[in-house]
Amino acid sequence: MSTEGNKPPAEPVLRRNFIREIIEDDLKTNKTDGRVHTRFPPEPNGYLHIGHAKSICLNFGLARDYKGLCNLRFDDTNPSKEDQEYVDSIEQDVRWLGFDWETRLFYASDYFDQLYDYAVQLIRRGKAYVCDLNADQVREHRGTLTEPGKDSPYRGRSVEENLDLFDRMRKGEFPDGSRTLRAKIDMASPNLNLRDPVMYRVLRSTHHRTGDKWCIYPMYDWAHGQSDSIERITHSICTLEFEDHRPLYDWFVEELGIYHPRQIEFARLNLTYTVMSKRKLLQLVQENHVSGWDDPRMPTISGLRRRGFTPESIRLFADRIGVSKSESTVDVALLEDCLRDDLNKNSLRVMSVLHPVKLVIENYPDGQVEELDAVNNPEDASAGHRKVPFSKVLYIEQDDFREDPPKKYFRLSPGVEVRLRYAYIIKCVGVVKDEKTGAIVELRCTYDADTKSGSPQSARKVKGTIHWVSASHALDAEVRLYDRLFKAENPGGDNWRELINPNALEILKGCKVEPSLANAEAQNRYQFERLGYFCVDADSKPGNLVFNRTVTLRDTWAKIEKQ
Ligand code: ATP
Ligand code: MG
Repeated sequence: MSTEGNKPPAEPVLRRNFIREIIEDDLKTNKTDGRVHTRFPPEPNGYLHIGHAKSICLNFGLARDYKGLCNLRFDDTNPSKEDQEYVDSIEQDVRWLGFDWETRLFYASDYFDQLYDYAVQLIRRGKAYVCDLNADQVREHRGTLTEPGKDSPYRGRSVEENLDLFDRMRKGEFPDGSRTLRAKIDMASPNLNLRDPVMYRVLRSTHHRTGDKWCIYPMYDWAHGQSDSIERITHSICTLEFEDHRPLYDWFVEELGIYHPRQIEFARLNLTYTVMSKRKLLQLVQENHVSGWDDPRMPTISGLRRRGFTPESIRLFADRIGVSKSESTVDVALLEDCLRDDLNKNSLRVMSVLHPVKLVIENYPDGQVEELDAVNNPEDASAGHRKVPFSKVLYIEQDDFREDPPKKYFRLSPGVEVRLRYAYIIKCVGVVKDEKTGAIVELRCTYDADTKSGSPQSARKVKGTIHWVSASHALDAEVRLYDRLFKAENPGGDNWRELINPNALEILKGCKVEPSLANAEAQNRYQFERLGYFCVDADSKPGNLVFNRTVTLRDTWAKIEKQ
């Protein structure tokens, strides 16, 4: 992992949004004693994705901007789906994004005893009861949006009987799924969440933190608000699907008479050409459509990191998309633009050839090597210069030569001159082909010794400049080209698997990169001139370099060629 996660997040751009307005209002009217305390509450049942990044930037960003605090809290109430591996990856991802929960790392499971006591309080006050209906029966009694539900036959149990049964539920006297503890609210409520929701179920499953201590586990709605209250969260920010749960959230804290955080809902992030459901992401991994959670095609934070995204670019994206109450799908091109903005400013330029063809400069002296001066980053003078070796035999891109050039093709073709970046003007004087296949195997050129870049006589202009590497100095590399994971803009339907883009990964072997990359380390990022932004993959080793294409440059040539 790179160290950039340790840099403090960039200065906030104080973009207005409705959540900031609520918070500022609450501060003005002193509702929270001047405090702003948020939390990010992931369930450790998968790796975090770019949607979670939006929530992380929002919650930690608000805490930062209003001099408040933000907790990291694992919502670990469903042991059958949760795992320590996920806990570890989530911590790593939040840190990498540049945020710090300091000493405030919590687990809902820290509160299991307290939650149990709270439940006993509700039973004592006649506000909760043990119900013997099974899951199907509970559903049948629930009614629909247009019809009220029916009371459970167990709704009228006495407080004593409920206390006894709940105690025995905890002690493990009843089989899984046989009984629940339910809040006694209103089976006729127009809000289905208030129709005596289940608070606890019997479930024998070893928990990654509490082991086998519990065989009853709290439901999300019961655990979440009370955890917020225990941590004295002022603003509990969640996604829109919880809007209908807010009356229940409020009911629990009111009935218990405990600290009352304010729940605020915002629209979740959807992104084109990918899926964001954890269930689907898990299927992609388990069914081997990708190499793992951190496959660079995945919208997970670990996938984006491996692909070469920077934390800065993701924070910039979160800032640009803003926060609202209406559902929308963001074009993935916006994410890529944020990335380019950052990489353009910060990545070192190097020359690499992905589809090499040999080029021999006939009039260049055999055995001569010149160390040419190359700019590391035109956007950042402090990045300095490096030396690039030049010699008689080079590689250029196959694409940079056309025997029969179309109009407006300003690269190399027979009889035409181009400039080699940082070097000389050359002219193509011959083409060597494979006798059998007709494929071009070598380009014969001459150079004009008076045109060296930077020299006083270099004023002569030609239309095209192409990149190159010196054949005897270049290093071999594998380059992995990534494209969108799905062929369809919105692969949300049942047939989503059929929409997986089979060409989202193309592996190129035998690419040629300049020798300055010999010691490039995993996560180092570069702009391969004229080709795009690339980063060193975790699989890379000295002598066996592997690069991922993070994102292409804006490609004007592709557009011209299409027309
Ligand atoms: P599930 O609950 O189905 O496992 P989830 O995506 O809601 O999936 P959580 O771990 O519960 O996962 O999410 C943690 C936090 O991230 C929640 O507050 C949730 O609202 C928020 N979140 C999840 N997905 C998105 C998204 N696409 N955009 C913005 N916030 C999101
Ligand atoms: Mg959730």
